[in-house]
Amino acid sequence: MKVVVLVGGVGGARFLLGVKKFLGLPPVGPAPEGAPHEVTAVVNTADDIWLHGLRICPDLDTCMYTLGGGIDTERGWGRTEESWTVKAELAAYGADPDWFGLGDKDIATHLVRTRMMRAGYELSDITAALCDRWQPGVRLLPMTDDRVETHVVIDRPGTGERQAVHFQEWWVRHRAEPRARSIVPVGADESTPAPGVAEAVGAADVVLVAPSNPVVSIGTILAVPGLRTALRKTEAPVVGVSPIIGGKPVRGMADACLDAIGLETSAQAVGRHYGSRPCSDSGVLDGWLVATGDTADVPGVAVRAVPLLMSDVDATAAMVRAAVELGGVDLG
Ligand code: GDP
Ligand code: CA
Repeated sequence: MKVVVLVGGVGGARFLLGVKKFLGLPPVGPAPEGAPHEVTAVVNTADDIWLHGLRICPDLDTCMYTLGGGIDTERGWGRTEESWTVKAELAAYGADPDWFGLGDKDIATHLVRTRMMRAGYELSDITAALCDRWQPGVRLLPMTDDRVETHVVIDRPGTGERQAVHFQEWWVRHRAEPRARSIVPVGADESTPAPGVAEAVGAADVVLVAPSNPVVSIGTILAVPGLRTALRKTEAPVVGVSPIIGGKPVRGMADACLDAIGLETSAQAVGRHYGSRPCSDSGVLDGWLVATGDTADVPGVAVRAVPLLMSDVDATAAMVRAAVELGGVDLG
């Protein structure tokens, strides 16, 4: 079976572990030779940022480290058994910004990536090269090779002056506390899907939308025009999984993002925001999984309620099974 999954960082990576488990693949590490299944993850890149001259791709790295067995499982991001010498040295120089966690091992990844970028390689090629080491067992594709960056308009803490900041500054430095007046994926309009993305969507047996942040992970992926077109055109069913349970994000501050784009924090609002493929001009969903106890009326979309907590890999694999079944895929 060919499965394409749209993902962000921590939530997306966890979901991918369940996709692999559902397909009978080892959740961590490479797929066995000759495995009959193929998983392609289309990863958000709008969180990417230049820091200290290095190109950082948080969601790609979270997926790569999680699936490759290098993630710090407690934190959910960054490398296991990490040290922070470079960060402390940068702070001693007063080098800005000091609010983003860059571990020593992690920096090696960013050095390799940045060096390849400077040599003219595209992000998709670089990601493939990094994955040669990590063997994540899925094809990790950036949503685009073009530069797309989420910017957030806030009233600057202290002065109250209105300004646009990089998503990471709002999210990590300010912990999403200043109210976001708007959230914009700058550059998305002119971006095109990375090589292989539209083709994978077109050739898929099922496309799954992970329970990632609906605005700054999935929303930015869907903002790449050619990607949305590919999702609308594919013969595969497209099934989404709600990151909102009981009117709250399971982890993190997705409610602050939803508020900024004028949506309530509910499984129904997110399902309607993704929209129906058959019954609207721009929607992408055929099916929408909500958590047991939640309801959602999304016209033109099949909705089913199942347990949606990714408490362990088996629970996540059961969610994936429910999503694939809701898409009407013949599981033989
Ligand atoms: P990030 O890029 O690291 O912020 O991660 P993602 O965007 O991929 O995922 C963040 C989203 O995952 C949050 O909005 C959470 O609500 C959602 N999430 C985290 N854990 C779970 C879970 O166990 N079940 C569901 N349904 N959603 C989850
Ligand atoms: Ca992210």
